[in-house]
Amino acid sequence: MDDNVRNYLDHYGVSDATRRFLAKPQKMFIDGAWVDASNGATFDIFEPSTGGLVGRAPSGTTEDLDRAVHAARRQFDGGAWRRLKPLERERLLHRLADLIELHADELAEIEAIDMGKSVTFAREIDIQGTVDTFRYFAGWPSKLHGRTVEPSIPGNYLAYTRKEPLGVVAAIVPWNFPLQTMAWKLAAALAVGCTVIVKPAELTSLSTLRFAELVQEAGIPDGVVNIVTGRGSVIGAAMSTHPGIDKVTFTGSTPVGQEVGRTAVGNLKHVTLELGGKSPVLVLDDADIASAAKAVVNGVFFNSGQVCDAGTRVYVQRSVHDAFLDELVAVTKTLKIAPGLDRDCYIGPLVSAQQKKVVSSYIAAGRREGAELIHGGVSLDRPGHFIEPAIFARCKPEMTIVREEIFGPVLVTDAFDDLDDAVTLANDTPFGLAAAIYSNDLSRVHGLIPRLHAGSIYVNAHSTIDPSMPFGGFKASGFGKDLGPEQLDYLMETKAVWITLP
Ligand code: NAD
Repeated sequence: MDDNVRNYLDHYGVSDATRRFLAKPQKMFIDGAWVDASNGATFDIFEPSTGGLVGRAPSGTTEDLDRAVHAARRQFDGGAWRRLKPLERERLLHRLADLIELHADELAEIEAIDMGKSVTFAREIDIQGTVDTFRYFAGWPSKLHGRTVEPSIPGNYLAYTRKEPLGVVAAIVPWNFPLQTMAWKLAAALAVGCTVIVKPAELTSLSTLRFAELVQEAGIPDGVVNIVTGRGSVIGAAMSTHPGIDKVTFTGSTPVGQEVGRTAVGNLKHVTLELGGKSPVLVLDDADIASAAKAVVNGVFFNSGQVCDAGTRVYVQRSVHDAFLDELVAVTKTLKIAPGLDRDCYIGPLVSAQQKKVVSSYIAAGRREGAELIHGGVSLDRPGHFIEPAIFARCKPEMTIVREEIFGPVLVTDAFDDLDDAVTLANDTPFGLAAAIYSNDLSRVHGLIPRLHAGSIYVNAHSTIDPSMPFGGFKASGFGKDLGPEQLDYLMETKAVWITLP
């Protein structure tokens, strides 16, 4: 850890538990053992609010992945995990949820240090969301069942279906909600009886490694959960081809997801792809301007805009357009830009210098192509990767900042005249992750919901996420669902059984 990071932690006073964890040499978790990469390689971990070095983690190899797959296979093909009764799996998952909750403050600090996000939101959203996800899926193992049917064909049969776990699941996770996204994939997979190998994003491995210690403490058998840290192009890519893996569940960008999907399907693996977004927000003229502006700002700038379903394209009915934009800017000005460990931080740094460069180049493209920058967009002259949230007005559908996912605090806006116009603008995107409507007119709202091509529709809200509701996109935002009972179907095979009766 370099002095900048040490001073930063001292200034904000992180817990002894977090300091102890960060001081340890980080190891991968394979078959219940803590190991280095087979070739000893590591990669550096940086803290985004200072840009300083936090430590190093193993850069796993395909041999390391092999060992993880063998361990996961052994447990799945008749190991202790496969023999556990459903209520035993429930008990272990509840115990794991309890342990995450017990260490929630520490995990939130680790997440804030590793990813740069607000420690307050990390505790309230990321870690609480992780606990809730494990608790929700902990209730499922004893409630999974097939059905018995009465066939109409000649003969006398007992015909029934069995739900069986798919097998070994590889989870590839992005950096924006490291622990929570991992939980979305892991909790359901374990609930149905699968075994798992997780590859966290290179930028944010730390909370997943701390989580693995809790997996061990909870008494989950060795080899059921394996964490292989390292490069996406090495570990992630090898997951899509490995013959011992039955399913790849990927959350990340659309281009990488397309590549993963192509390779995994080519190798006849099951695939879930949770990809990028460019979600539209429609503000109708009957909306409550003040409360809608607050929700819209939260929906786009939360987590410094690094949210897959962020409402990044806002279309406002012309008669309230100017008043609404004034309110948007006024609310945005109240957001505190600060290091992630500042308890009042709303806008933290972007995750990396590279991400800041990408976001800055989009802001420059917006100006070049004629959008009107009405607020922010300035790169802050201080350590860390800070950019002031940017709001653009009069953005045309063909502009780069309207078409492409930016994954930073950049909002594009324009006006619409009638609801047909609004629907055309909203759906004019390759993505289909989410859409939001602000209106108090129920008939207009219900008329719009079926016309919007997106996996989640939020009304007078944004990014309301709960483990009981499915999450997943349409079109270039991917396919398959995480969360809700729907996710279970993506992790189980259905076996049809025919028994001839006398
Ligand atoms: P990314 O695609 O760069 O990386 C995601 C993961 O894939 C990382 O673990 C990375 O190491 C791995 N990876 C990289 N190259 C790979 C390869 N060739 N083969 C296999 N794996 C590889 O995405 P990111 O920058 O980490 O995350 C941001 C993106 O994730 C955004 O596009 C965002 O919209 C998306 N996202 C989507 C959801 C959703 O639920 N739809 C949620 C969060 C983030």
